[in-house]
Amino acid sequence: MIERLMVKILVLDDEPFMLKLLARMLTNQGFTSVALCESGRAALDRVDGVDTRPNLILLDLNMPEMDGIEFVRHLVERNYTGSLILISGEDERMLQTVEKLVQAHKITVLGHIHKPVKPEALSALLEKWAPSSLDSPKAQKVYGADEVRAAISNGELVNYYQPKVTVATGKVAGVETLVRWRHPVHGIVPPDQFIGVAEANGFIDDLTRVVLTGALAQAKAWQEAGLTLRVAVNVSMDSLASLDFLDFVTGLTAKTGIPPQQIVLEVTESQLMGDARIPLEILTRLRLKRFRLSIDDFGTGHSTLAQLRDIPFDELKIDQGFVHRAWTVETLRAMYDASLALARQLGMEVVAEGVEDRDDWDLLLRTGCDLAQGAFISRPMPAEDLPGWMDVWQERVRTGFANDISR
Ligand code: C2E
Ligand code: CA
Ligand code: CA
Repeated sequence: MIERLMVKILVLDDEPFMLKLLARMLTNQGFTSVALCESGRAALDRVDGVDTRPNLILLDLNMPEMDGIEFVRHLVERNYTGSLILISGEDERMLQTVEKLVQAHKITVLGHIHKPVKPEALSALLEKWAPSSLDSPKAQKVYGADEVRAAISNGELVNYYQPKVTVATGKVAGVETLVRWRHPVHGIVPPDQFIGVAEANGFIDDLTRVVLTGALAQAKAWQEAGLTLRVAVNVSMDSLASLDFLDFVTGLTAKTGIPPQQIVLEVTESQLMGDARIPLEILTRLRLKRFRLSIDDFGTGHSTLAQLRDIPFDELKIDQGFVHRAWTVETLRAMYDASLALARQLGMEVVAEGVEDRDDWDLLLRTGCDLAQGAFISRPMPAEDLPGWMDVWQERVRTGFANDISR
């Protein structure tokens, strides 16, 4: 437990009694460097000090002067890289909301604890805390616009494919194309590290074209091998702001001979929405040409009821944040059920994303969700792995997942 001796912990609570109590619990668990602060001001002074900057803060949400949420905002401004445990007498729902809020700021939250604090609850959270989180968190490299632009033109982007399967039968209905950057030095780079750069610098369109071209070529190759799959591609709303895109998609489809019904365009709204009428026009025309339109990440800020009202989508993808563990978490379940019902009433096909385990899968089966996508079925893979994976999948379905290692 050498790590515990090296960890600097700060406890922030306006009640001196709570401070003492938490300090005792921490000491009993082997943490010796524990600083106690009664106000956000005092705590921030320690965060600012090179020698006093904590690796972990136990934060009371309800404080008279600076409340816990305001305190977090100051941590963000200071690029705090340590972890956080939230403590409050508020109800579970409220604590969950705050936890989400903090995570959105990219601060690691180990979890939350209700007052009165029980030593077991605290030690359970601290157990989860790997010593690696002692270092500043996995520094996600942010790539520059020039690097990303060069990657596109040098052909360093590769498509991975993740299956979408029919829940009732286990049949593979299609795949979603998810782009990766095969970086000459860093290896496979996930899209979150470069899509935003492409969007912000105005070349997401170029990226989409490369991905779409690859996906259609792949669809054709599968077709020729006797595999008819719907192929989905992610399209940022930005790309739908120019009429060129429509011509590009229809032209490419005609050239490869894949019927539009087999092509799914998964749309998410981007931050940089300009005139909303042009995307509306383009999407409607694509739909008239029988391309399938899918509203991605439904339930998150970027996909809204207004879009659902205005655009004739064929498919609704329930965001993974409302799917995994929806069988047990009441709030998630409410969102999941509502999204499913909404899609049903509008006659859309429903895809649940983020199906991570058998319990998630069973919920989909019970509630009659059409399609499933997620780690339980398969992570995204290179095209050449798909046939082999299909054999394994069919066997898993046939045996009712009886031989799965973990549940
Ligand atoms: P998305 O469209 O919501 O894609 C689903 C993401 O969830 C993928 O991450 C996928 O690998 C991941 N995922 C799949 N199953 C599970 C699961 O069971 N659990 C968890 N925790 N995650 C799962 P990925 O591939 O890193 O893509 C991230 C996002 O990048 C995508 O989110 C999409 O918004 C964007 N993206 C990917 N490819 C493209 C593209 O070609 N063009 C555009 N514009 N955006 C893309
Ligand atoms: Ca998607
Ligand atoms: Ca999604």
